[in-house]
Amino acid sequence: MKRHNGKSALVTGGGRGIGEAIVLQLAHEGANVAINYLSEQEKDSAELVREKVEALGQRAITIQADVGKKQQVDEMIQQVQNEFGQIDILVNNAGIAPFEPFMKLTEETWDRTYDTNVKSIFLCSQAVAKGMIERKSGKIINIASTASLMVTSPVIPHYISSKAAAHQLTKALAIELGKHNINVNAVGPSTIDTDMCKDFLSDQAIYEQEVEANPMKRLGTAKQIADSVVFLASEEAMQINGHLLMVDGGLTVKAAQPEDHMEH
Ligand code: NAP
Repeated sequence: MKRHNGKSALVTGGGRGIGEAIVLQLAHEGANVAINYLSEQEKDSAELVREKVEALGQRAITIQADVGKKQQVDEMIQQVQNEFGQIDILVNNAGIAPFEPFMKLTEETWDRTYDTNVKSIFLCSQAVAKGMIERKSGKIINIASTASLMVTSPVIPHYISSKAAAHQLTKALAIELGKHNINVNAVGPSTIDTDMCKDFLSDQAIYEQEVEANPMKRLGTAKQIADSVVFLASEEAMQINGHLLMVDGGLTVKAAQPEDHMEH
């Protein structure tokens, strides 16, 4: 018996990277999945993910929407509900990490980062929670980061602080929605080799430092993040609420080593 048979899920930013892996693992476990994406040039990628879900025997739709804009979020949620009847699992995965150093950081980048990484959790969770409260059932999972707990390298203050906010928002929503039998949790990946990190990781020396700094001496994978999401969305995790599940090889529990302070 698949863990998410008959369930409907919405994954924001589900057309590539970690989001794609989450979509596919949820579908693998029997869920129908709505795949949100933002950019017109990424439409083909989202459509490809839809085809992969259908090949697994599940239903899928793709929806273009900016998760930082209330009207677009509300229309997206309505569209998913029209298609699937309801949303049982919401994964707030969409995120950006523009590599702008602090002294060059613009107000536009600050706002766009917070709209995408934090405000989206508020907008999508509020819109989806209405139906979840009526049914007294639901799972919300936010994709946080090691940056939720520590100042990661390279230092991008807007991203790091937005992920700390996502962590606190997870806890606040867990308290607020728990009484309605809605679990709100987060997953915290360390560096994963997706488009978000490809420039950074294409430098072989940085790649090797990332591997060396991790207690497991390897990078994590998008599928490992997806497996944790699938677990948190399952009935086996029904008493887990307000938790940040780090999937980071132990990076955030490791004391800093002298070599970690070497210049990149
Ligand atoms: P990615 O490959 O760059 O993908 C980002 C996804 O977010 C894309 O699907 C993109 O849509 C979507 N997106 C961006 N802005 C959006 C908006 N305003 N509205 C709707 N969708 C939007 O990144 P990733 O590595 O998979 O990251 C996924 C999540 O994991 C993010 O929250 C990120 O912060 C977190 N994370 C990543 C890492 C890592 O090392 N990769 C580590 C820790 C946490 P389009 O395809 O249309 O552009």
